[in-house]
Amino acid sequence: MTFTTDCAFLENELLDVVRLFKRRPEILTHSFRFEEGVFFNTFSVDGNEYSFQDKGQVCDELQFKRLERRFAKLRLYEILSNLYGEKMPWGALTGIRPTKLAYMELEQGKPFEELFRRMQVREDNIRLVEEILCAQEGIYEKKDGNTDLFVSIPFCPTKCAYCSFITAPIDKTKHFLPAYLDALEKELASVSDSVGNLRSVYIGGGTPFALETEELARVLKAIDPLYRAYSPAREYTVEAGRPDVFTEDKLALLKDYGVTRICINPQSFSDDTLQKIGRKHTSADVYRAFEMSAKYGFDVNVDLIAGLADETPAVFEESVHKAVETGADNITVHCLSLKSGAKLKEETDYLENDFISTMVASSREILPKNEYVPYYMYRQKYQVGNNENVGWTKPNKACVYNVDIMEETADNLAVGANAVSKRVFTEKGLITRFASQKDLKTYIENVDSIIEKRREFFK
Ligand code: SF4
Repeated sequence: MTFTTDCAFLENELLDVVRLFKRRPEILTHSFRFEEGVFFNTFSVDGNEYSFQDKGQVCDELQFKRLERRFAKLRLYEILSNLYGEKMPWGALTGIRPTKLAYMELEQGKPFEELFRRMQVREDNIRLVEEILCAQEGIYEKKDGNTDLFVSIPFCPTKCAYCSFITAPIDKTKHFLPAYLDALEKELASVSDSVGNLRSVYIGGGTPFALETEELARVLKAIDPLYRAYSPAREYTVEAGRPDVFTEDKLALLKDYGVTRICINPQSFSDDTLQKIGRKHTSADVYRAFEMSAKYGFDVNVDLIAGLADETPAVFEESVHKAVETGADNITVHCLSLKSGAKLKEETDYLENDFISTMVASSREILPKNEYVPYYMYRQKYQVGNNENVGWTKPNKACVYNVDIMEETADNLAVGANAVSKRVFTEKGLITRFASQKDLKTYIENVDSIIEKRREFFK
């Protein structure tokens, strides 16, 4: 496809709309102008011209940009949707945080449903957003100084076929571990000045349980003074990860350090799928991990992925039922999202897979019948079937960290390789980011300068 626009600001936004559709125009051109409160968008799609005029009240630059983007995307969506006879579940919305947009509308005193209908979002998705906002009541808090602490453990037992994360199999990277833990300890000892109102701590991966007990103990010990001194919310999560690395010792260690929540991530309960995605465990290991954890009383989060390997909707539904039977407090249903690093992308054309929408629809039927409500959601680029990832929770078991991250309402103080710290200036509606190096060796070598730069960043 050849695409040109005279408005550089809109280039990527409009390409995102084009990418929603399976069919694409061969030649697309766009021009934009604004005169006396009217937004003029003209498109030429394979030689046919379409012109639109939309009125919008503009009070500042930010509002102008928002409307400029909104009208251009909506009009292009309408053209392509009519031409190709396809409607998208989220209409012309291409952003990854629909709930954040809903909150923004509400803050301006407007019902978000009006905007979502205008952008042609499907009614069941509007209801989904309503339910999520309702589930977040009492957790959602937009206040400068709220902070979550994230500790990155980018090590895994093996690399899953669909994974585009920087993690590498631990047998290839374990020689970095001692120095990596030294660097983490240094970082954690340096951040007390930057912690505001600490709402949660999250040790994520990778697979934190890929570490040996003594290695994990070093991480927990380094976090401990921060957690005890600053955390009124007392939510402390360890994304333990794959069930094949669960041991009694590691679970007891978490309990000793006051961890309140763990993640057991099977992704599927089908042994055939687990083998195809490169996992070295079976569903029996998942049940064993649950049994082992039961006596510690952690809240448990479980992850499932719709669209793995050649799963049919029936196989996926079975996994949803099995996840429910485990009694997990949270079940997050992800849709396969393929990035360039993922091996499966080279092997299959999953973007065409319509099964995913059926799978998502079945999870949205099964989970509410079993007392789960949706409480956070996000979308990704290259998301198969244009669906969304939804976290479901049993009553009063929502994970604060997940809500803060998805709604971007709190600072994120992130340590470790590939960790991205965020500062959220709620009044100004501004978010700034500071990323540490992805590569383990470079991260370890640069830890002192990372500490200095982050201190500046949080000043
Ligand atoms: S366990 Fe998670 S982070 Fe590790 S390789 Fe698999 S998908 Fe990637």
